[in-house]
Amino acid sequence: MKIIHNIKLPVTATHQEAVRSAAKKAGIAPSCSGFVQKEALDCRRGEAYKIFSVVLDTEKESPLLKEYQEYVFTPPKPPDTKIRPYIIGTGPAGLFCALTLLDFGVRPILIERGDPVEKRAEKVSMFWKGNSLDTESNVQFGEGGAGTFSDGKLTTRIHDPRCRKVLELFVAHGAPEEILWKAKAHIGTDLLRQVIVNIRNDILSRGGEFRFRTKLENICIQNQKLRTVTLNGEEFPAEKAVLAVGNGATDTFSMLLRQPLVFETKPMAFGFRQEHLQKEIDDARYRRLPDSIREILPPADYSFYTHLTPETCVYTFCMCPGGSVVNASSLPGRLTVNGMSRHARDGKNANAALLVSYRPKTVQQALSLQKELEERAFTIGNGRLPITRDLDKAKTLTGVSPTAMPNTCEADFSRIFPREMLHSLQNGARLFQKEVLHGATTVPPVYTAPETRSSSPLRIKRDPETLQAVKAEGVYPCGEGAGYAGGIMSSAVDGLRTAEKILTEPNR
Ligand SMILES: Cc1cc2nc3c(=O)[nH]c(=O)nc-3n(C[C@H](O)[C@H](O)[C@H](O)COP(=O)(O)OP(=O)(O)OC[C@H]3O[C@@H](n4cnc5c(N)ncnc54)[C@H](O)[C@@H]3O)c2cc1C
Repeated sequence: MKIIHNIKLPVTATHQEAVRSAAKKAGIAPSCSGFVQKEALDCRRGEAYKIFSVVLDTEKESPLLKEYQEYVFTPPKPPDTKIRPYIIGTGPAGLFCALTLLDFGVRPILIERGDPVEKRAEKVSMFWKGNSLDTESNVQFGEGGAGTFSDGKLTTRIHDPRCRKVLELFVAHGAPEEILWKAKAHIGTDLLRQVIVNIRNDILSRGGEFRFRTKLENICIQNQKLRTVTLNGEEFPAEKAVLAVGNGATDTFSMLLRQPLVFETKPMAFGFRQEHLQKEIDDARYRRLPDSIREILPPADYSFYTHLTPETCVYTFCMCPGGSVVNASSLPGRLTVNGMSRHARDGKNANAALLVSYRPKTVQQALSLQKELEERAFTIGNGRLPITRDLDKAKTLTGVSPTAMPNTCEADFSRIFPREMLHSLQNGARLFQKEVLHGATTVPPVYTAPETRSSSPLRIKRDPETLQAVKAEGVYPCGEGAGYAGGIMSSAVDGLRTAEKILTEPNR
């Protein structure tokens, strides 16, 4: 199998046409079988094209044809199926780790502090309607992990053949097939919730076990080896524990920081969500395209990145076309926001995080700035989401209606962010307006603060070969919270990778 990139065709082209065109470009008979591996849209310069990457069933040698890397994994020896690893956390890292272990007969025990996704969704909905926060089951905690109430974007910067396997697993559990080829694939929060239920049923049917409302409270490492895990106050002997706790588990991080594990700082970013009318984003991104083409295009997205100084950059993150801003808090007296969309992305507003980079000197410094911002934001509106339409003076202007209504309050963001950080964000917002929207918006955007959970504040050092924590055999730091991923796709990939290592270990 070979792959050929950059097959540029009109926006109405079908996959059949793409395969034929790819074969022709590679000098192969047009009847050659193949499939579209990626389909991207190019709407620049007033024209719209689809750009395809196509996998062809050929062994022909040509500079245009590259080897297609398929994901294949088989353990060198049958794994020891008597060992039952604990997987702490049922986000993408934990769930995809479990699915892979089960493929080879290893039956994990999945520990999740929150509720199953159906009950969790009810709790989140009640919280957004004004009920009090359940600190164990919320937008960040509970079955499915942090991305359950999200746009379900599957884009990633990593290039790993496991990405395809993750997409196939999502599809096998009910996600739309188009995610296999769309360059900017997304599932949407509405569909993702059912996918999570299907994954759970699959894991249960193959002998995996779930313990909901069960929190990892402690781990015991002696002589550089994992001995026990403490779950809801009870201590259990443990040989292997995958720590896939996500980046919101502040209390679990505090517990882990007391263990003989090795930690590293990592770059972070803080900022807010910006919301524009989706129509204005479409107008800016699809400008000069005829209506007949615009009608068949999806709601437009954007991304923006700029260096304000050599050390400071401002960028957009996790853009949700036709989405809404959500209160993503998980701790009492603290507030953090995020964004989500349904599969149809049919909401009136577009949102994205606008973030400024931050390099903490220590893990404690990262955690304490995160805490400060979240507490200040909570205090300003007693739990309502602080919004502004004027970043410079906090004047009340008319403009885009925030989707997080009705739980918002007008606020002066200088009461939340340190002066320099806000100054960078103000500059970034101005540059974004000019460079991405070409100054085209007529309705002022609305900003909701703070976005504080775009990445983990720490990394638990692990051996690159075994993926076990340094000086703690049997402990597998995994996914975003452990500092090895950023987003649904890369967390799921890290789950697969971790399972492979567990399955590869020599039997005793
Ligand atoms: C609202 C929102 C929208 C997002 N949108 C996107 C998007 O569109 N695309 C994208 O790629 N990324 C998105 N993200 C980020 C994405 O969700 C994360 O990158 C991803 O979920 C990380 O996966 P994970 O498995 O490492 O951790 P998580 O998904 O965070 O899962 C960790 C799990 O561990 C559990 N847990 C934590 N501590 C304990 C404990 N002590 N004991 C037991 N269980 C515990 C938690 O309850 C949670 O279920 C979004 C995040 C949020 C909050």
